Amino acid sequence: MAATESDRDLPSALCSEFLNFSARDTATRWLEAADLKKEVYLHLAVYVPRILCLGPTTGGGGAGSSREEQREELACQLLLMAPLEWFLLGEEPSSGLAFLQEKNQPSPLCGHVFKVGEPTYSCRECAADPTCVLCMQCFLGSVHREHRYRMTTSGGGGFCDCGDAEAWKKGPYCHKHTPTADTRDSEEDPAALIPADMVARGYSLFSVILTYAVELLTWDQEDQLPAGLEPPARADTYYCMLFNDEVHTYEQVIYTLQKAVSCSQKEAVSFATTVDRDGRKSVRYGDFQFCEQAKSVIVRNTSRQSKPLRVEVMHSSVVAHQRFALKALSWLGQVIQYSDGLRRTLCQVGLQRGPEGENSSLVDQLMLNDSKMWKGARNIYHQLLMNSLLMDLKYKKIFAIQFAKNYRRLQTDFMEDDHERVVSVTSLSVQLFTVPTMARMLMVEESLMKTIIGTFVDHLRHRDLHGRFQFDRYTAQQAFKFGRVQSLIGDLKYVLISRPAQWNDQLRLKFLEGLDAFLELLKCMQGMDPVVRQVGQHIEMEPEWEAAFTLQMKLTHIISMIQDWCSTDEQVLIQAYRKCLSALNSCHLPEGEQPISLSVAGHSVETFRYQVSQDKVSIHLPLYRLLAGFHILLSRTEVASRCPEQLPLGELSPPLLIELPLRCLVLCAQVHAGLWRRNGFSLINQIYYYHNVKCRVEMFDKDIIMLQVGASMMDPNHFLMIVLSRFELVHIFSSTDCRKRYREANKDVVQQNNTLIEEMLHLFIMVVGERYVSGVGQVEQLEEVRREIIHQLSVRPMAHSELVKALPENGNKETGLERVIDSVASFKKPGVTGRGLYELRPEWMKHFNLYFHHYSRADQSKAEEAQRKLRRQSGEDTALPPPPPPPLCPLFASLVNLLQCDVLLAVEGAVLHWAVEPSGGGWTESMLQRVLHLVAMALLEEQQQLEHSGGDDDITFNYTRKITRPGEAPSTSGSVLALLESLQNAPHLEVHKDMITWILKMVSNIKTARERTSSTSSVPSRGRGRGPEETVRDKDKAERKRKAEMARLRREKIMAQMSEMQKHFIDENKELFQQSLEELEASTSAAAERSPPTFEPTCVSQVCVGPRRVGGAEHRQLVICILCQEEQEVRGHGRAMVLAAFVQRSTCIKVGILPFLRSAALFFHYLNSTAPPADLLIAGPGQWEALCNYLSLPSNLLQLHQSQHTLLDPLIHRWCCHPGVRRTLQGGGVIVRFPRESNRLIDLPEDYSILINQASSFTCPRSGGDKSRAPTLCLVCGSMLCSQSYCCQTEVDGEDVGACTAHTFTCGAGLGLFLRVRESQVLFVAGKTKGCFYPPPYLDDYGETDQGLKRGNPLHLCTERYRKIERQWHQHGIAEVIGHAQEANQTLVAIDWQHL
Ligand SMILES: [Zn+2]
Ligand SMILES: [Zn+2]
Ligand SMILES: [Zn+2]
Ligand SMILES: [Zn+2]
Ligand SMILES: [Zn+2]
Repeated sequence: MAATESDRDLPSALCSEFLNFSARDTATRWLEAADLKKEVYLHLAVYVPRILCLGPTTGGGGAGSSREEQREELACQLLLMAPLEWFLLGEEPSSGLAFLQEKNQPSPLCGHVFKVGEPTYSCRECAADPTCVLCMQCFLGSVHREHRYRMTTSGGGGFCDCGDAEAWKKGPYCHKHTPTADTRDSEEDPAALIPADMVARGYSLFSVILTYAVELLTWDQEDQLPAGLEPPARADTYYCMLFNDEVHTYEQVIYTLQKAVSCSQKEAVSFATTVDRDGRKSVRYGDFQFCEQAKSVIVRNTSRQSKPLRVEVMHSSVVAHQRFALKALSWLGQVIQYSDGLRRTLCQVGLQRGPEGENSSLVDQLMLNDSKMWKGARNIYHQLLMNSLLMDLKYKKIFAIQFAKNYRRLQTDFMEDDHERVVSVTSLSVQLFTVPTMARMLMVEESLMKTIIGTFVDHLRHRDLHGRFQFDRYTAQQAFKFGRVQSLIGDLKYVLISRPAQWNDQLRLKFLEGLDAFLELLKCMQGMDPVVRQVGQHIEMEPEWEAAFTLQMKLTHIISMIQDWCSTDEQVLIQAYRKCLSALNSCHLPEGEQPISLSVAGHSVETFRYQVSQDKVSIHLPLYRLLAGFHILLSRTEVASRCPEQLPLGELSPPLLIELPLRCLVLCAQVHAGLWRRNGFSLINQIYYYHNVKCRVEMFDKDIIMLQVGASMMDPNHFLMIVLSRFELVHIFSSTDCRKRYREANKDVVQQNNTLIEEMLHLFIMVVGERYVSGVGQVEQLEEVRREIIHQLSVRPMAHSELVKALPENGNKETGLERVIDSVASFKKPGVTGRGLYELRPEWMKHFNLYFHHYSRADQSKAEEAQRKLRRQSGEDTALPPPPPPPLCPLFASLVNLLQCDVLLAVEGAVLHWAVEPSGGGWTESMLQRVLHLVAMALLEEQQQLEHSGGDDDITFNYTRKITRPGEAPSTSGSVLALLESLQNAPHLEVHKDMITWILKMVSNIKTARERTSSTSSVPSRGRGRGPEETVRDKDKAERKRKAEMARLRREKIMAQMSEMQKHFIDENKELFQQSLEELEASTSAAAERSPPTFEPTCVSQVCVGPRRVGGAEHRQLVICILCQEEQEVRGHGRAMVLAAFVQRSTCIKVGILPFLRSAALFFHYLNSTAPPADLLIAGPGQWEALCNYLSLPSNLLQLHQSQHTLLDPLIHRWCCHPGVRRTLQGGGVIVRFPRESNRLIDLPEDYSILINQASSFTCPRSGGDKSRAPTLCLVCGSMLCSQSYCCQTEVDGEDVGACTAHTFTCGAGLGLFLRVRESQVLFVAGKTKGCFYPPPYLDDYGETDQGLKRGNPLHLCTERYRKIERQWHQHGIAEVIGHAQEANQTLVAIDWQHL
């Protein structure tokens, strides 16, 4: 037994007590005591300092220290834990616990707490939200493995949601956690299932232990202990305790420690690692003076630039009690695993309010002191909270309420805390707020939404004079806080992530209260970071913009979610709309600048003077955008038409609504036109993000919608004139000859104006044409996604991940892509390189819109080119007319009138007029193209109205008439048609010819249709009305058929030409083809020869040596000839192959020959008595060279042949002439078995998550049980290494290198192939300085790798790719791959590969 050893090693004072101690008697004494706490404290006061005060523990995990730890552990168990267990169970602990477990009726929750790096799974079809995850065991036993799922690696903390019915839409249980007859009803009190006296004992014991732990973890005195715990004898023994902070670097700490406590570099590294992991570590033990001395050195050394490292000199008994407090908490966590009844009892103790009332429970005290505790302490009590309160549904609720009540304070503490969020108690919010019923309850009862937003706004204090956020004068400290405060948005997201299925008045009230707070937040953002155009000089300093955009980006999902909530309840939506409007009205509105009157094309409008190019303008307009969002909800839900009287529509002023969004769009246009060049990159970045997929849904898209809202409520002419005015282009279109005069002006100005006109025309196209938002147009949300995909794929075929990136994600990280992709695209699998691609199905091409609002200019021109090319290939004309638009919703119906209003006709007329003359800078092709597009849009609109109406009477759209009849409209508009006709054959407009032809044909079709319709309008029968339409269609059909026929003929001609060329080629290279044909025949006949059973006896006895040697013949091995790069089997009569490549650049060939050389050396030594050189006497890396030297051989095999060929050639010749050789060669059969098995890379599992799981349980071999941060698998030998970490650095040739580099010298002669498991990335290293990353051989279902494991699609081994890596290794191609990679990417050169 171990007792004898303990006797010898334990401090003698403890020994006798150890032998005499009885845990049972102690427990009995406690049971009889009147004051349990006093008794237990007394016991702890005596034993804890004696057991847990071992003095100095060595830094490195040496054998001595681990023995000491074992002793400590044993004493702890026998003297401290055992009495607790006896007391609780009333019997021998091990049998008592077994009995408890047997009787337990567990809740069906899995609750497995994740380790860092462990794989987690979320079902994209069934999880309530992406935070609901399963552990690997539960996942494999669940229905979800057959669904679409996402796999990620845990950052530590959090637990498996298996068994939580609320977390899953369906399939909440795996096989193991499916409720059975034994499962307790969740309403039943589990404590009622264990003996009442045990519950009573548990209650009192847990109270004492938890109180003790709380007292010590929150204890802030270094030299004193809480009452009742003072040690009987006080020694002068202290620890110098070093605490973690996020300010000082590893290097600083290591350097300082070496100086302060004069330890070795290794010890210092170990201290620093522990401080980083646990949050504190004692670095010196001794009397007070001794420890104080070390403290002052550390403080002095680290206080120069920053605040010094935190060091405390603590009395040994204080440290001992704190250590035991942690052990006691872990013990509590273990004991309650045996019984849900005890768990419930512990929950009761933890949340029991003390006499002080509010916030006096033990759990409250822990939470509220969280930020004062060191990391190790926090981790242990958080773990206990997860094992107890979060696993008990009743107490989870009570805890959640306490958490919400203290929310503001906890968050405020977290702002000041310099630890990461994962070790803050605030990170538990994800466990509490993502449960929908809980979130709703907290919202209603604790005003959680309002609290979170309020706390957020409170912490962003920096404002300008108007109360808006101002980030440009942020100090580093404030920036740090800003980073922290963003986690609040995460919490808000959890609360809003699932919208309510049912509303009640309480919820409405509280949600709207929350919305009020949110609108206050948006008010602070409205108009932030305004910009003014810089003229003359370039801007001096790039203004801060990132903070504002970060905020906007983080809030994007929240804004969308709020709209989502509002869409489910009519009353809430109406109230929200009102609130948003009044928030907008209370804001700083566009000032009453100087009023002016504009007139264009015979219309005039009153507005005011404002110039984007001269006045302040801001990109941040969240209130307008939210209102636009609400407005389309009014349309989509038809609330607007059902209860208009409840809406403040009369208060809306369309010109005011459009003003600021319009300015923002004009700003973008001016930036494009180069007017803002002097404002630097900050503005360019802002414009970029404004359109970027991460922001655009709640920025650019909503601005377009706001213009649509405004335009649908205004006279179209007035709307267009205001737009013209904000673009500062009124003067160009107000009179015809103005442009002429203008052309002579400054060339730059002309060019700028050209771009502005283009941008403005594009804006018109978008305002009328963008209808794929449900609520603006009559479309489903699915169609919106489909249209995005169609347009992405119109640019070029794309990989799945590229498409995902181009689409906005919702709060659940879904884009809706999978629902539509297969209907619009076909998938092409990848080869050995590259990735799988989606290609647009041809039938969807007709939906292509060149002016799709999410195209950048570059996308647009690429798409245009691609589409024209496709049309040319299929023999069609190259016109790219707009696709037929979906119908508008009633609220937006009047938008179409923009297309036929006089101002637009005037603009169109002007541009066409300019285009009569070849462009001398006065107009541009893009301008003309946009005008043609607008004309085409109008014609499509008219055609659709004609098709959908019976007679002429209800057709309000008369575009063809307006452009035909001169004189009806003022100025140039009457001549639009005439102009088009005259432009049709203009030689300088060849590119646009097809489009103009399309337009003219359309006009004549419509005219014919109208004539027929009006002649039959007295009989508005649908059947007859369609007559002329049909002839039009027939004509179209015939035309198409003719073109298709022409295309077919052309194709046939090309095919004929090609086959002619092939024939010619074969004739030319007759010999070659002959040869290959013969070969083909030979190989098939050889196969036939081998097939008779007589030729391959199945039961030959195995002979391992000599000419009759057999065995392994059926082991076919395909290898690649390095010369011709073809794969074939190695066989005697096979084609000649060059296989020298199998000589591994590794140590193996040398290893193979070494024994022979050594024997030869020994033989010659004894034969000739030549003394061996000194380096041969020691086994070492230099042996090979030494042996070769000794035997007078070159150390290189090639040299051997070269230098000795006179000797070798006859030998080889003699061997070849040997009759046996000849016989075998003639007789066929297998003579050359492959000389040796070629080396192979290790086998990898098919499912990547198996590797992740393997890596998550891998611990660093050097730092005793710690998780490795970068577990890395050697593909050559299968070793798992702890890469990229201080702990596993090794010295190689006087230099510290990481585990991978070190491994290459023992495994691959300096060359290594690894798989970085967490990154899903292959690493090649060569020598100490060279390396590169390489795509892993794992692909998702879309044929893509996932380097960095960011997307989380399930990954499977692609054997072909793995073989390709293996082949490169066989062929010595790795170094070359590295070389190429480093050439292509200079940043790779700078990486310190040796540290990996
Ligand atoms: Zn689980
Ligand atoms: Zn489970
Ligand atoms: Zn599922
Ligand atoms: Zn290896
Ligand atoms: Zn390590």
